[in-house]
Amino acid sequence: MSFKIEVGNINNQQVQRPLTDSFGRVHTNLRVSVTDRCNLRCFYCMPAENVQFLPRKDLLSYEEITRFVNCMATRCGLTKVRLTGGEPLVRHGLHELVSQLCSISQLKEIGLTTNGILLDQQAQPLFDAGLRRINISLDTLDREKFKQYTRRDNLDKVLAGIEAAQNVGFESIKINAVAIQGMTEQDLVSLGQFARETGIEVRFIEFMPLDADHAWEREKVLYAEKMIEILSKEICQLNPCQVVHKNAPAVSYQFADGRGKIGFISSVSRPFCAQCNRFRLTAEGKIRNCLFSQDETDVMELLRSGVEDDVLIDRVMQSIAAKKEGHEINSAKFLQPDRPMYSIGG
Ligand code: SAM
Ligand code: SF4
Repeated sequence: MSFKIEVGNINNQQVQRPLTDSFGRVHTNLRVSVTDRCNLRCFYCMPAENVQFLPRKDLLSYEEITRFVNCMATRCGLTKVRLTGGEPLVRHGLHELVSQLCSISQLKEIGLTTNGILLDQQAQPLFDAGLRRINISLDTLDREKFKQYTRRDNLDKVLAGIEAAQNVGFESIKINAVAIQGMTEQDLVSLGQFARETGIEVRFIEFMPLDADHAWEREKVLYAEKMIEILSKEICQLNPCQVVHKNAPAVSYQFADGRGKIGFISSVSRPFCAQCNRFRLTAEGKIRNCLFSQDETDVMELLRSGVEDDVLIDRVMQSIAAKKEGHEINSAKFLQPDRPMYSIGG
């Protein structure tokens, strides 16, 4: 057992054991994958078929996730959690986990990232459980292209999910779209118009080398700079927003006529590693200190053997301490991780 007490200060709260890495980055933001299963097969994430999912017994239970998050929030300064997957809404009773997490007073934000297919049915229970922030992934408004990108014919369900989220009254709804050079330029324009019509911020994510098919190539990345040029030409001049959110991976822009907000997550062209405050918990209880990490640290075994909090924290701190300076996508040394996005938890 560790008796070392380190005291730091995050958001004016005394934190006994802040999760600081060797570059001084303090980790306050956790993404929790609740499943690796998914009801889509997006080509930039999953293989088309023969996916081997984790057996049910190997998933952390909601109680185990809550215990972990509670420990990180009360002792280590964790303030933000985002639930993701795979597709988090395919896991039964997700609103129960949301409700458990909402009882942790140190958490300032709890969010969910979903493909929206099951949101139509689940928006209300999730809201009632206390969820207020939701990101919905949607790359195109064209039915045929949706089928091509996701290998499923479900655009109508996603649109119904977005509408349900709006009706229920979430405080923050954002759309995430992966941008791919030579493929999604036209979608960019229609989603830009959608942002203007609905008032929902649309954020474009540069395609990252995390696809199961290992088909990523630098030439397929549609860079933020190019997207800004296209949107400004086809719709209206895009200008950077005045307010900059430290640690937020997306940089926000606004159309010059004041209608519509667009964000860019430029992980390839403008990596935000120097400000990164995130770590991840996979569905089977592994800590990853970076999306692109080659290593992971098991906490499932600790959670199941009933160790004290300090032992758990020691293990997490070892992982955070080993975090590299950056992801190195732009260096010749870069190696794509074995695990694709759906299995890590994007
Ligand atoms: N299934 C949920 C969804 O799609 O929103 C949550 C998990 S998904 C892995 C989380 C996010 O990762 C989605 O917004 C998805 O578009 C993004 N993503 C998946 N593969 C990606 C890749 N290779 N490059 C960039 N973003 C990717
Ligand atoms: Fe499923 Fe999300 Fe990956 Fe698409 S991006 S295959 S919806 S996990």
